[in-house]
Amino acid sequence: MGENRFGVSIGVVGGGAACVSLVHYLVDKGVPGSFDVTVFEANRPVGPGLAYQQDTDILRMNRMARTMSVLAEDPEHFWKWLSSHPYYAPLYEGTDDYLPRSLFGAYLQDVFEQTRRVGLKKSISVEVVKKEVIHLYKRDRYRLMTRDGETHEFDIVILCIGHPSSIDHFNLRGNDRYVHHPYPLSPAISVIFRNDRVAVLGSSLTAVDVAIALQKQGHAGEIHLLSRTGELPSVRSEFAPCQLRYLTREAMVGILQKRGVIRLRDIIRLFRRELRPYGEDWRDVLFPHSRKRSPVEWLKRELDAARNKRRWQSVLAAANEIIEEFWLYLDEADKNRFMRDYHRLFMARRNPMPVRNAVKIHQMMQQRQLTVKGGLKHMDALSDGTFFAQFDGGEIKRYDWVINATGSSRNLELASCSGLLLSLLHNGYARRHAHGGIDVDFQTGAVVDQQGRADLRLRAVGHITCGTYYYTGSLELIAKRAEQMAAEIVDLLARSGKIAELV
Ligand SMILES: Cc1cc2nc3c(=O)[nH]c(=O)nc-3n(C[C@H](O)[C@H](O)[C@H](O)COP(=O)(O)OP(=O)(O)OC[C@H]3O[C@@H](n4cnc5c(N)ncnc54)[C@H](O)[C@@H]3O)c2cc1C
Repeated sequence: MGENRFGVSIGVVGGGAACVSLVHYLVDKGVPGSFDVTVFEANRPVGPGLAYQQDTDILRMNRMARTMSVLAEDPEHFWKWLSSHPYYAPLYEGTDDYLPRSLFGAYLQDVFEQTRRVGLKKSISVEVVKKEVIHLYKRDRYRLMTRDGETHEFDIVILCIGHPSSIDHFNLRGNDRYVHHPYPLSPAISVIFRNDRVAVLGSSLTAVDVAIALQKQGHAGEIHLLSRTGELPSVRSEFAPCQLRYLTREAMVGILQKRGVIRLRDIIRLFRRELRPYGEDWRDVLFPHSRKRSPVEWLKRELDAARNKRRWQSVLAAANEIIEEFWLYLDEADKNRFMRDYHRLFMARRNPMPVRNAVKIHQMMQQRQLTVKGGLKHMDALSDGTFFAQFDGGEIKRYDWVINATGSSRNLELASCSGLLLSLLHNGYARRHAHGGIDVDFQTGAVVDQQGRADLRLRAVGHITCGTYYYTGSLELIAKRAEQMAAEIVDLLARSGKIAELV
């Protein structure tokens, strides 16, 4: 660790996109020589994280290249990096498309290395420890323990630990043909025989990834995407920039002044007003399709609709500006109702799949290789290593493989927590948020302990904060939070120069 003027040290746990963004802003905004940073990453080089790790090229980003960036103020940062890259630029020349996620991972790795170089010039060292942190203990400073029993002390710790594991809904772990962690997909599916029947748990973007990766490896057997609702993600249309006129911070403040709380119906009313000038029916967005049409019919309709600009998608994307605050002030009973009745649907609409993936899924459905089935009730392993699934009405299906594509769990059930999360919860340094993840202070991202005290020296960014901010599944919002947090930490350090004043 380098020598800095104040002897302040910052530990960052997790080395994915959130970490790259956060460390960039810490170094960029930091007063030369004011602190050192140490990043702990358990599984891979710092940069790609889970989402953008090395994997098959068929896995694409779900936003166009020009709009994906790890820097909040520069949406074209990745695009510019790509355009000037000596190796990748010729490969992707003129393509402003949905590019491979692993390519974005290479960009993240480069941004991080560049940050380290800038840090060196500013006497801010950025070290990497390639180990898993499993324990945090608070004394006057924070002691992190890695899996090998080593300990490291820090003044500030920031959790960028990304996605906890999915929930094992049917207790299938331990079976040879059950894949609990689908990513990286290439090795996970390479052992599946060509004609095997595969059940994919979930029907969201991860399930779509699994289906198209199986198709790419020449799979000929049946693939069933199984979920309770049978709702596929929408299809992304051409992006039309949109300035919100009704669903705004001013509208929110107006409602709060009148009533002190936001109701779900307020949000729906403002959303309807946003759509009205474009003649789009809000019911198409907010009502499930699965009750009305078969998935194949619905997907065909979506593909047709995606040829035109769909304003509701732009409205939902533009709502990134205000979504966190609307969530903060939403009535608690409405939050519960939203999470119970609308959350899954919202995610299916808010995270649409690119047309190229939708076309593949549609073809596979037409060829009857792929089926989207709702009403999954129960599943278990049989003694021959295969599985059975039972659906509403008692229908039974048999499968050779089960792949869990339900995505990262929001609720921190014991089985989905990592060692570090469990240690934080057991020591009372963190508490579960009622709507997912751990509780953090809205303004600062400071982790709230069991007594309800926010600790400014222990903060968190990313999925783990989803209960407080609701929508954390977009890099744009993660980068925005990372920038705010870094600015605030740097500001406090610069003003005080002493860590004691942080607490
Ligand atoms: C499959 C997938 C695809 C996505 N695609 C897009 C997209 O196209 N566009 C978009 O805007 N958003 C996308 N997202 C949303 C995504 O959440 C963010 O873009 C971003 O990648 C999140 O980064 P992160 O650093 O928070 O988490 P992660 O990418 O999960 O990285 C966390 C890292 O922390 C490490 N770690 C965790 N715990 C510890 C520990 N205790 N000790 C040491 N290391 C630890 C992990 O090994 C991991 O590398 C996608 C998400 C997923 C899961």
